Amino acid sequence: MKTINDFNFKDKKALVRVDFNVPQSADLKVTDNSRIKAVKPTIDKILNDGGSVILMTHLGRPKGKVSEEFSLKNIIPEIEEVLGKKVQFCSDCIGVDAENMTKNLKPGEILLLENLRFYNEEENGDVQFAEKLSKYADAYVNDAFGTAHREHASTAVIAQFFPSTKFFGLLMAKELEAIDKVLKSGEKPVLAILGGSKVSTKITIIENILPAIDHLIIGGGMAFTFVKALGGKIGNSLVEADKLKLALEILEKAKEQNVKVHLPIDIIIADEFNNDAETKEVDVYDIPDGWMGLDAGTKTRLLNHDVIMNSRTILWNGPIGVFEMPNFSAGTIALGDSIAEATELGAFSLVGGGDSVAFVKQFGYEDKVSYVSTGGGAMLESLEGKELPGVKAINH
Ligand code: AMP
Repeated sequence: MKTINDFNFKDKKALVRVDFNVPQSADLKVTDNSRIKAVKPTIDKILNDGGSVILMTHLGRPKGKVSEEFSLKNIIPEIEEVLGKKVQFCSDCIGVDAENMTKNLKPGEILLLENLRFYNEEENGDVQFAEKLSKYADAYVNDAFGTAHREHASTAVIAQFFPSTKFFGLLMAKELEAIDKVLKSGEKPVLAILGGSKVSTKITIIENILPAIDHLIIGGGMAFTFVKALGGKIGNSLVEADKLKLALEILEKAKEQNVKVHLPIDIIIADEFNNDAETKEVDVYDIPDGWMGLDAGTKTRLLNHDVIMNSRTILWNGPIGVFEMPNFSAGTIALGDSIAEATELGAFSLVGGGDSVAFVKQFGYEDKVSYVSTGGGAMLESLEGKELPGVKAINH
């Protein structure tokens, strides 16, 4: 893997694609700066070498139209705060101003270009647009893991203009190493915990990770499709009726590959999808009509704990209950506690993909697991075994 550590940026200009697509409040203040913090090491390394940094990113979905709402101007104070440095700004990523400002940039300085997606050419992967951007710098660095699954001008197409000076940033390297640990080089036993609402969105992941793992915990809403396929009574629980056969096939494939699958044993059920619903704890194979399973039961939590404590490498994607409702969050909290305990005892744990990342942040597990991925879609596509366009463009 060719990273920025393989290059000395002294007196060089680096065009760094970052993912500053950060969440903002109604008055456009940054509400979660993790993605900015995550690329600080990359920016620091280039500046410390004596180079200069041209940052480019998208923000939101302006769909090719210039708008105040999606202007990167709004997030400059937060970027300056996190980096501890002044950041120059060019209000158009293309054109004479950008050409002049990048030309005049001195070692140690940072320049931020306006939202790339103010041009449709960005998402269309336009080669001429990419070439214009490429003229600003001596080297190209991709540190935008969150956007690495997109074949856009600035994330993939542009790399061709830097045949020998294209590099992964340190965040990209960390993300790719974490995935590699789970899929290839991790210490055994390797455990994957998959939750969330749907089997259908996780099928390719399951098929791709089976050869690499020893244990698979299936929880959350997607577990009921398996339970029903095995003959269980699931009441009104979430189910994908057209995936029953597939669920059995997955279980069969797991068996063939010596992967032990752990489905829930018992479950907290509710008489409606509501935090204040009436609840009971029952056998997962015997849910009464009119009731639905919304959180892992006591025996299930203990089983999960045992499996987690016996694993050396742990991947977690998807909550195992409706954690957004306080009365159904205990199972996912127990799972987080077990992963934190295993991590403290030396296991490697990777949390990735939308809702589980939201969970670890909200409930304070971020520093108790080994790595929390910054990319939702990019993480899931990597687990599906795809080579991301942003990764391929640097590797080939
Ligand atoms: P996904 O987007 O497929 O990863 O699903 C995440 C969502 O699954 C979260 O919003 C959870 O609330 C939801 N979820 C987890 N367990 C259940 C369950 N037993 N029934 C319904 N939804 C669930």
